Amino acid sequence: MEAPRRLRAVVDREECFGFANCVATLPSVFVLDDEGFSHARDVDADPALLEEAVEGCPRNAISLERRSADAVSPERRSGAAPSSRP
Ligand code: SF4
Repeated sequence: MEAPRRLRAVVDREECFGFANCVATLPSVFVLDDEGFSHARDVDADPALLEEAVEGCPRNAISLERRSADAVSPERRSGAAPSSRP
């Protein structure tokens, strides 16, 4: 039997301009880093609000990916957010 999947937001930091619409929509997921660019935390969130954040980004910088519910990223383990663009 296949494991249940959950949605996770991913921000293309090359496209992000830091308008923070996503932060206003879903502050439990999106945070602005030290440089003012959005970062999506790997936490569970309301799928409808994730979709709203995608639609509300003027730069189309947010995408959603499906992950198995038991997948835990290294970032989620540490709770760390990147401090600069890649
Ligand atoms: S709404 Fe889009 S451009 Fe604005 S901070 Fe979020 S990801 Fe970046």
